[in-house]
Amino acid sequence: MTATPTPSHELHDLSVVSLAQALRQKQVSAVEVASHFLARSRSHAELGCFVALDEDTTLAQARAADARIANGSALPLDGIPIAHKDIFVTKDFVTTAGSRMLQGYRSPFDATVVSQLAAQGMVTLGKLNCDEFAMGSSNENSAIAPVGSSQPEAVRNPWKLDRIPGGSSGASAAAVAARLAPATTGTDTGGSIRQPAAFCGVTGIKPTYGRASRYGMVAFASSLDQAGPMARSAQDCALLLSAMCGPDLDRDSTSLDQPKEDFSLQLEQSLAGLRIGIPQEFFGEGLSADVRMAIDAALKHYEQLGARLVPISLPRTELSIPVYYIIAPAEASSNLSRFDGVKFGHRAKNYTDLTDMYKTTRAEGFGDEVKRRIMIGTYVLSHGYYDAYYLQAQKIRRMIADDFQSAFEECDLIAGPVAPTVAWKIGEKSDDPVANYLADIFTLPASLAGLPGLSLPVGFAQTEADQGLPVGMQLIGNYLQEARLLNAAHRFQQLTDFHLAKPAGF
Ligand code: GLN
Repeated sequence: MTATPTPSHELHDLSVVSLAQALRQKQVSAVEVASHFLARSRSHAELGCFVALDEDTTLAQARAADARIANGSALPLDGIPIAHKDIFVTKDFVTTAGSRMLQGYRSPFDATVVSQLAAQGMVTLGKLNCDEFAMGSSNENSAIAPVGSSQPEAVRNPWKLDRIPGGSSGASAAAVAARLAPATTGTDTGGSIRQPAAFCGVTGIKPTYGRASRYGMVAFASSLDQAGPMARSAQDCALLLSAMCGPDLDRDSTSLDQPKEDFSLQLEQSLAGLRIGIPQEFFGEGLSADVRMAIDAALKHYEQLGARLVPISLPRTELSIPVYYIIAPAEASSNLSRFDGVKFGHRAKNYTDLTDMYKTTRAEGFGDEVKRRIMIGTYVLSHGYYDAYYLQAQKIRRMIADDFQSAFEECDLIAGPVAPTVAWKIGEKSDDPVANYLADIFTLPASLAGLPGLSLPVGFAQTEADQGLPVGMQLIGNYLQEARLLNAAHRFQQLTDFHLAKPAGF
């Protein structure tokens, strides 16, 4: 089971764990590391990953890390570069959330996730493109021109440049795959960490809802939004997630009062006797042969590792699409009402009166997909339709969560595909929003239930049209079982090398 990784000692091929070691042992300086990644980000501008780079800021942070390392007060992740999805507000870099509405916006504070990673010594490389307000599955919906370009462009998948990287955290996954950053942050509302991780062949984890603070994350659907890391391996993700999670009770009312946990300490547990639930609904019609084959092979590896496969059922899987596409737009329509041209970001230049200022500002500032969601959301929340749509959706959401609890009586974690196919062509579904929504079918259930989910690379497509594109497998755990997911992914990665494979040209 080899994916022919290219062994290399280049800085950009080092894992977070090895980079941390090299920095601490002073084999390389934080400034050298940061400069190396900044240069790569500039020279691979064709991917469209970065929407903000600021060398002075990055190098100043790197110099501070070097000073701490030199005087013996090194922080655990001192000098490791990280790039943030442009949905996290940052005081040192502009934050756009991929929207014209926030073009040029500078936050007076850092998101909690950003400051927690900085508190470990991580150096911010820049901000990464995303679908506007994190709405999308392809990263084709950003209104912001990437660095090196004069107009908005779709982010490209490093494995095949005519393919989407997935979305909405598409650039977060593409940047890790192309070795433009050893680690990135993403957010997942309905799959936006797991699906791009799968499409770009990297590892990503969305923790239990409430584990990572939402403070300073530009809000999309507040009852679903969660932050998480992306990196090449589960081991690296464990380090990052440990830093990102933790209570933030004063600033996020849905933050869990759950102490910080070091997920890195739990990676080596044996998988002997682990019961892996295989939901029949995840393996039906519509699943591509490439995805099925890679997942079947991965499950065999899990059996070799001592796990037992248990057939389970998540009977309301199909309903997760209509339920999510009612609840998420409903919350989005409410969250986005704050963009009125008064307090933040864009304001129309020409208008007649106050009402016209609101209307023109919003008509100019939001893109098509965002407007579509605002309209759907407003509709399902309006008098007369609230009971028929929103309330019904909430009831089914509860049932979906209950279905998982029944499943977890029979298994310790659940495995299945992340998406029905590998990455599709740029433009292929861009005129068909429903086709995009349908592709979220396997990530939405865990999001609606608030469960942690991880995506790990398990193979490559073999069929001619898609040959060489990565396939990801999803692991879903019960509440607060992030350690178990990371442990299961790490054991698989000790046995295989899909996570080390590298796209040609990077
Ligand atoms: N694709 C889903 C959507 O468009 C999920 C996005 C996300 O997780 N941010 O809403």
